[in-house]
Amino acid sequence: MPKPSVPDSDFPAGSVWLVGAGPGDPELLTRKAERLIGQATVVFYDALVGAGVLDFAAPGARLVHVGKRSGRHSKDQKTIDALIVEAALAGERVVRLKGGDPSIFGRATEELSSCRAAGVRTAICPGITAASAAAAGLGASLTLRGLARKLTFVTAHARAGEDLDLDWAKLADPEATLAVYMGKAAAGEVSARLIGAGLPGETPVALVENASLPEQRIMTTRLDLLGLAAKAALGEGPALLLIGQAVGPSIPHLAENAQRFVAHPLSI
Ligand code: SAH
Repeated sequence: MPKPSVPDSDFPAGSVWLVGAGPGDPELLTRKAERLIGQATVVFYDALVGAGVLDFAAPGARLVHVGKRSGRHSKDQKTIDALIVEAALAGERVVRLKGGDPSIFGRATEELSSCRAAGVRTAICPGITAASAAAAGLGASLTLRGLARKLTFVTAHARAGEDLDLDWAKLADPEATLAVYMGKAAAGEVSARLIGAGLPGETPVALVENASLPEQRIMTTRLDLLGLAAKAALGEGPALLLIGQAVGPSIPHLAENAQRFVAHPLSI
């Protein structure tokens, strides 16, 4: 195959790209992301960036892990902002590689603002977000004609010791699909609060751990059993909760697939 011409005018020395690494499977990287990673002299990457994605870095590039997993922050956000700016001002070609899409729960604004304040040129390369990968793994659509006309991305991550401060009445919309990021620890609370706000307990739910990776695990259940299901089935990997009628049609299809971990309410 002829090599595509490589535009490098969009990545001069001293500039920063916030690049979406996708959900983990390196094949779900965009071609642009692959090129930018290959052109970088330094790559600052998160904990959730798939291992295979880093293989696209040039042999001499510096790979710096600045990962955060809930509760275990290896570097705080200000330190990360400062590292990126410092590298750019030193004349490096900087890729800031983030899991999924950089603009979704990725602290992109802080990093963009720090770069702009320092006069550093920045741009974003979008990526496939975890909700899309989870739906693909499930073999489901995130929207459903007539039944799920709305898609809400919400984070259920609360600061240590604080309650989840979400507008549950708005989230309990029977015509929406709710994609809950960082919702593993709060799954029981999400379930109770949504039911308390009027969403039926039998609303279909899917839990997808390690979407797009070989370790992917899928569990389908219903809203009133979500807390139990999360405790029983989820491991250490990142997990996404999908809640709503759009998830329902995938359940019979999954039940036929013995390769997947499927628990129906009656079998819990
Ligand atoms: N920017 C990322 C989200 C960062 S927040 C994106 O667009 O996907 C981190 C959360 O994303 C995790 O706690 C988890 O809820 C979700 N997540 C990321 N990768 C995932 C994966 N491979 N499978 C399931 N959920 C994932």
